Amino acid sequence: MNTLILGNFIDPTSDTQCQLHRQKLLHIEDGKVRGLFPLEKKDEFDLSKIEFLDYSNHLIIPPFFDMHFHWVQDDVRMMPKDNLLTWLEKYTWPYEHKFSDVDYSKKRAISFSKELLAVGTLGGACYSSIHSHTVDHALEHFQGDFIVGNVLMTMNSPDYLLQKESDAIEIVKDLSTKYREKYALTPRFAITTSPEVMSATADIVANTNSFIQTHLSETENEIDFVLSIYKELDGFKDVKNYTEIYDRCAHLGNKTIMGHGIYLSEDELRVVAKSDTVIAHCPTSNGPISEGGLGSGLFDFEKTESFGIRWALGSDIGAGPYLSMFDVIRSFVEQNRAQGQDKATFIKGLFRATRMGESILHPECKASFLEQENTASMLFISASDELLKLDSAEEILEKVITTCSRDSFDTLVDKVWHQSAFL
Ligand SMILES: [Zn+2]
Repeated sequence: MNTLILGNFIDPTSDTQCQLHRQKLLHIEDGKVRGLFPLEKKDEFDLSKIEFLDYSNHLIIPPFFDMHFHWVQDDVRMMPKDNLLTWLEKYTWPYEHKFSDVDYSKKRAISFSKELLAVGTLGGACYSSIHSHTVDHALEHFQGDFIVGNVLMTMNSPDYLLQKESDAIEIVKDLSTKYREKYALTPRFAITTSPEVMSATADIVANTNSFIQTHLSETENEIDFVLSIYKELDGFKDVKNYTEIYDRCAHLGNKTIMGHGIYLSEDELRVVAKSDTVIAHCPTSNGPISEGGLGSGLFDFEKTESFGIRWALGSDIGAGPYLSMFDVIRSFVEQNRAQGQDKATFIKGLFRATRMGESILHPECKASFLEQENTASMLFISASDELLKLDSAEEILEKVITTCSRDSFDTLVDKVWHQSAFL
């Protein structure tokens, strides 16, 4: 299978590097990128043997990697939000309970996989409910490159979601052995997962090459609550901060993704950096309540980067209101610029929503999605002549994102190419 695609390629390879290739030909063979060529080379290809696709009126970008989202919270995205802890108790947990029904879970996984494709999310790190079949269903139906984990809830949880410690450990043993590097050990957060369970399961996944993901320092309320709980527990009475709880349970490392990390002290940032733990930043979820978020606060990316910490963007649905990573990029840029932070560019947002996430899952991956031998994977966005005439990738991205309404981001991606065909 041999294809030549004519289009305009936006290729973010770092926070500040983003090539714009106008009217270029991408050659794809057997699902792999073979090279990018100037339009004049078209005659050198034997078009009787190659499928030629003219997308000269489209922008082509790498697929999104959403590095923190809860697929079992799709229906609570638009529920009234007050603050993290009451929102969880009032809406999220009762809703996740529905997923105990295997048929319901399967049906929702099939419909959610279509939502992911529609917004161009082809990879990322995903939370299921406590039920092991919700991991099976996600990995069976989501197309692309996802890691998935069942949340662990063994304390401070409603009866209908509370797990026996031995059961929680058994599920992690089964699923991490079955899915290995596609699996993520997922304590919901230290409040609901006992330290004995965290420690025992960290030992298990150390042998299966699996990831670890959980929540850290999302709100000040939550930090007070978690410390008040752990200061009563043996082995934690002298614990100084939230990060140290996870550290003592062997949960930090280069395959760990911590959601949020908004209120980390410098001591904590040093520990996160030293362990090479990643942070998933979710600006729409943390954003103001009036904009559909939980009002948790703004992540300080510049300070985090100054410690050498890797971070990527996530939608955090259902706390985040929209699944589209375009909305997440918009929110990242707008919230930071409102604070006078001009290093939050659209290119940086695009990079952190695409290639950065892929490099967290696959540190060996190449910087550019157009690199030879890469699996061909890309999103097509229709573009007017006027848009294509703008000077730079930054200007084009800004125009695409700021002229779209939040409710319409879902419709921006026209087509998704993966390997040898459109999905
Ligand atoms: Zn979350």
